[in-house]
Amino acid sequence: MSETYDFLFKFLVIGNAGTGKSCLLHQFIEKKFKDDSNHTIGVEFGSKIINVVNKFVKLQIWDTAGQERFRSVTRSYYRGAAGALLVYDITSRETYNALTNWLTDARMLASQNIVIILCGNKKDLDADREVTFLEASRFAQENELMFLETSALTGENVEEAFVQCARKILNKIDSELDPERMGSGIQYGDATLRQLRSPRRAQAQSAQECGC
Ligand code: GDP
Ligand code: MG
Repeated sequence: MSETYDFLFKFLVIGNAGTGKSCLLHQFIEKKFKDDSNHTIGVEFGSKIINVVNKFVKLQIWDTAGQERFRSVTRSYYRGAAGALLVYDITSRETYNALTNWLTDARMLASQNIVIILCGNKKDLDADREVTFLEASRFAQENELMFLETSALTGENVEEAFVQCARKILNKIDSELDPERMGSGIQYGDATLRQLRSPRRAQAQSAQECGC
């Protein structure tokens, strides 16, 4: 596949241990469920190019790789993230109750502008549900988060979660986010750089002054 893209976004996956973060990342990248027998070393990182509103966006996604078990998710993990999936498990109220802490950390340690999508994972286990859709959507609204229920097992809404988050960041680039600002979590890709450079070159060659 071509490595040409317009933007590069750093993404995080955060939330309590056991909520399915690694499985969500695996499902998004590989399009399959990572079963428990597959105990390879914790993947810390994945990347994939997606097409959103006619732009190719490379998502560079960081997984906590087990750090959250020891409540030691480091500042460097958060630094410069443009987007995050904040994950809880719909069958575990404890993981839902922890969301406020995760949110505080993300906004403090990443950026005030970080775009976050709340993911109520394990949607397939509806019979064991401890958190209703309505309750979580209210929480999301109050905290200005997007919200989806996902299943890393069936794949339902997994791609959508990443795409919706990326789409919102792209919309923000037009208004409040500046990709060239340090720590924005956004970089221009080759395709955009070529576009940005070539008009300037063309302008210089024709020596036209338009004052814009
Ligand atoms: P992490 O600690 O947040 O990275 O969680 P993992 O991705 O390691 O998943 C924790 C456990 O939940 C594993 O046993 C997974 O098989 C299981 N799991 C993850 N996502 C789902 C899901 O969507 N549905 C179901 N039924 N189980 C899941
Ligand atoms: Mg994990």
